[in-house]
Amino acid sequence: MHRRRRTRIIATLGPASNSFEMIKKLSEAGADVFRLNMSHGSHREASDLYNMVREVEKVTGRPIGILADLQGPKLRVGTFKGNSVTIKKGEKFVLDMDDSLGDEGRVELPHPEIYEAVMPKTELLLDDGKIRLHIDKVEEKRITTTVLVGGKLSNRKGVNVPSAILPLAALTEKDKKDLHFALDLGVDWVALSFVQRPQDVQEAKDIIAGRASIMAKIEKPSAVHAIDEIIALSDGVMVARGDMGVEMPMEQVPPQQKKIIRHARRAGIPSVVATQMLESMITSPVPTRAEVSDVANAVFDGADAIMLSAESAAGDYPEEAVSTMNRVAKSIEREPSYRRMLNKDEATPEATTADAISAAAKQVAKTVKAKAIVCYTGSGSTALRASRERPQASLLVLTPNIGTARRLALVWGLNCVYSQDAINFQDMIDKACNVCHEYGYAVGDDRIVIMAGMPFGTPGKTNVLRISRVQDYHIKV
Ligand code: PGA
Ligand code: MN
Repeated sequence: MHRRRRTRIIATLGPASNSFEMIKKLSEAGADVFRLNMSHGSHREASDLYNMVREVEKVTGRPIGILADLQGPKLRVGTFKGNSVTIKKGEKFVLDMDDSLGDEGRVELPHPEIYEAVMPKTELLLDDGKIRLHIDKVEEKRITTTVLVGGKLSNRKGVNVPSAILPLAALTEKDKKDLHFALDLGVDWVALSFVQRPQDVQEAKDIIAGRASIMAKIEKPSAVHAIDEIIALSDGVMVARGDMGVEMPMEQVPPQQKKIIRHARRAGIPSVVATQMLESMITSPVPTRAEVSDVANAVFDGADAIMLSAESAAGDYPEEAVSTMNRVAKSIEREPSYRRMLNKDEATPEATTADAISAAAKQVAKTVKAKAIVCYTGSGSTALRASRERPQASLLVLTPNIGTARRLALVWGLNCVYSQDAINFQDMIDKACNVCHEYGYAVGDDRIVIMAGMPFGTPGKTNVLRISRVQDYHIKV
């Protein structure tokens, strides 16, 4: 339960981690949230993983978040004679609506929207940008291109069209089915892939209707341009560097990462840095120096969470990947320069009681050297504001709502404890002191700072700040 690390770790589950034992190991190594990637696997497999995570949560006692990541409108080519072909630089290559098997000269591209949206003299990218095609001519159901960078192309590889906003629905038929399935399971977060416009988030929000939090994956240039509108509608954002690095020049990804994290923090929603963080650990028990630097820099940037994809889902060393992230994040967070960075990007409190109390709690905790700030919350909104302050003291969240505790598992610094609401002022102090003591956040005559709302049990009413010492309380439970 006791976790000093503030930056959260998300581990994607898959064939390398589809057992209760492995998920428990990953949780103990430091994973706070598990991701179900709806691009792969069946509903049966996803629900098995879901149930295993909930079982692990029962054993470890720490609320765990589950994120269902929808595939989104990912464009793909059709299939080839012999399953793959080699496309050569300088040759012509045609994409069309003919569903017969492709060859060296052509392949099916079964997305009518593309033919209307692309323009000659722009580029089409295949297989994560490994193959680049220059568009010569666009006809009704046919795009003629010249190969700029060739290579091997196999069945159903992805297609990126960075230069155009495609008139594609944010949720495909598959996404809608997956979304309803995930909501019925009871996932805490839903991630939306290839968000292009703020309306895409709104559309999903209307369907989700509060049953899960929404994470917008930022991977299209059009989403980067509308980042603040998207943040305003979302509960979280992911810097989805895999597709972003194909859709935009790769060298623009690091500055975008910093900007998205900063803007999300200002708005008080969590940000996630994803993809290739420890890529070499798919096949090696140790990371490269560059990967350690990348994880360290995401932490330095102030990200709420860092994510593993194939490293934990399909790699040979899932546990080592989580423990590497854990070790790097903990070490960076101890650096004085980390604290300086957090303070530099400090977000100004807004004119609300929740922000006034959150800012005051941070200040008071610093002045009296309190070990922990305890925050009572129902919906989680006060806890998000408290995290936005990035206080030095540990943050404990007491909530009677297990859904809130799980959703907050990916937010910077929040340690959630499922607990009944306080019934009166004394009970508020007792519960807070007991929890701090029980989980080792404060001992002896350590001080803690408590944030709560009175009357108790009324949402959106944070208006109390109380300083207590834990010593008198640890006897009662
Ligand atoms: P994906 O998203 O792994 O679902 O594609 C992450 C990314 O694009 O970086
Ligand atoms: Mn992606």
